[in-house]
Amino acid sequence: MERGCKDMRRLYQKLGPAVTASVVAAVVILCSLFNFNWQIRSDLRGGRDGREDSAQSHLELVEKMGRLLTAELVGTMSVLLAVVVTERKKEKKRLVLMKNAYHTALSKSSDLFFEVDLSADRLKIHSCRVEGVWEQRDLPYSEIVSCSAKKCAPQFQEAFAKTFSLEYIWDAIKKSIPSVCFEYEAAVKEEERWYSATLVPVFTGDKASARLFCMERDITELKQQQIKLKTSAMLDGSTGLYNKKTSEHMIRQRLGKQSEGQKYALFMIDIDDFKAINDSYGHMEGDAVIAQTALQLKKLFSPADITGRFGGDEFIVFFDEISDRKEIEEKAEKIKEMLRSAGMNVSFSVGIAVSEGRNMTFEVLYKKADSALYATKQRGKDGYTIYTMSEV
Ligand code: GH3
Ligand code: MG
Repeated sequence: MERGCKDMRRLYQKLGPAVTASVVAAVVILCSLFNFNWQIRSDLRGGRDGREDSAQSHLELVEKMGRLLTAELVGTMSVLLAVVVTERKKEKKRLVLMKNAYHTALSKSSDLFFEVDLSADRLKIHSCRVEGVWEQRDLPYSEIVSCSAKKCAPQFQEAFAKTFSLEYIWDAIKKSIPSVCFEYEAAVKEEERWYSATLVPVFTGDKASARLFCMERDITELKQQQIKLKTSAMLDGSTGLYNKKTSEHMIRQRLGKQSEGQKYALFMIDIDDFKAINDSYGHMEGDAVIAQTALQLKKLFSPADITGRFGGDEFIVFFDEISDRKEIEEKAEKIKEMLRSAGMNVSFSVGIAVSEGRNMTFEVLYKKADSALYATKQRGKDGYTIYTMSEV
């Protein structure tokens, strides 16, 4: 038996578990065959054919073979059992180590990690973010999704409820979509925060063990930076007014929404003899005049109006919902007076174009305002012109 064990150990080391198992299976089959043979021979031991001696020695040989094979079998089984137990112990140790590593990694992270049993509609949270302690709770998943959707900013509520719904996740599994990413804004403790969620459905063919793993990260700071960058790209660096590209884009959008009977007006404002200010007082003084102009324009008009700098000493203001000519003239007078009231001896020329009804393009409106501005300059500056056909 001792030898048998050693042989089997060698066999196991050489051939590995799969082949060893096959060998053992073959031994078991052989053994049962021999046992069966042995049984028949035992029946013969009674000596019915009168050739007892040869039958006896044959039986002894078979018995010996049988004992030998039984010993081999027992030895093999012991080795196999020892191998299985050792492997199981190693596996258990590996699992404990993995669990500890996973626990440590998650406890150091501010991310929220959760697991959903898709068939049972239950949720387990693995995170320290919720209430500051490590949690593993068994919660009703769909109920939590509909409560959480209500905490989202209005524009994200529908998409949140849809993306996290069981139907959507099962559909992703059906379409073999490996993961889904979703960014949303939600109120947490009366503070608006941004989150990025990565949903990973796991399905191995068995519906009962289907899971959804989800990692959710707070990306508020990143989003704020992005918004800042986006805003700064939209603005004119030295005045904080909308730059030419943004002003143009916004005006096009408003014109696209203009309905019959609505009046819009574009004012083009240019500082008179600005070159002379630069030449007489220096470039820095010129910059101060530009900054002051922007400040006064911001003060004069509401944030709903589009106030921009088109470059150099040229500014625009776009108004929607202009009622009549009188209102246009009042606004033009205010512009005319604005820097004088701020104590600066600077005058402006203004060109105004009005868009009535639909189908007005930015190009046409801009061209009309520019023509009107030109007309003001031609007339001796420091005034305004409302575009009419004679201004072409
Ligand atoms: P007009 O009365 O016909 O408008 O003549 P103007 O002297 O104002 O000349 P114009 O509008 O044609 O030129 C504007 C000048 O403004 C040209 C440029 O040197 C100067 N300029 C453009 N951008 C800036 C700026 O950011 N700062 C300063 N200080 N000057 C600028
Ligand atoms: Mg000028």
